[in-house]
Amino acid sequence: MIKRAIYPGTFDPVTLGHLDIVKRGLELFPELIVGIAENPKKKPLFTVEERREMFIESLKEVGLNGKVEVKTFNSLLVEFAKRERAVAILRGIRIVSDMDHEFTMASLNRKLYPEIETVFLMPSDDYAYLSSSAVREIAFYGGDVSQFVTPFVEKKLKEKFGR
Ligand code: ADP
Repeated sequence: MIKRAIYPGTFDPVTLGHLDIVKRGLELFPELIVGIAENPKKKPLFTVEERREMFIESLKEVGLNGKVEVKTFNSLLVEFAKRERAVAILRGIRIVSDMDHEFTMASLNRKLYPEIETVFLMPSDDYAYLSSSAVREIAFYGGDVSQFVTPFVEKKLKEKFGR
């Protein structure tokens, strides 16, 4: 069986850190599916369709076009993983403080669906302090986000904040 992994997240919006994890994931798994969680409770800035479009366009911009499928979901993560017949969930760990939350989630997911493994990957040092929320904050105040996101996402942020 081909080993397929899913990389789930809110991706509000996708950053170069997320794309770095995708690149690393592709070294380990021949099939990778990005799962964009609707996550209405987080009140995302972008709709799930906007987030999907930004991910697809960003993959093209960094030369990962055609290697990854981008889907959306609005269910428990393990249900999405089952539907996609994934053997692993990829998550990125930036700094030690990410671990608390990620370990809790991974343990719960293992209880709900013991067949799935959670695989943690570290991004390049350049992205260790990068988050979607920081990008939103910088863009909101008109700062330069070009070293954190792709040109397509930068454009979408400018549109969103009316610049
Ligand atoms: P979630 O709401 O599920 O945490 P995010 O979009 O914030 O969704 O993050 C998705 C995944 O990507 C998480 O595993 C997160 O730790 C990871 N991630 C976020 N930013 C980075 C980054 N700069 N480098 C590596 N991984 C990251």
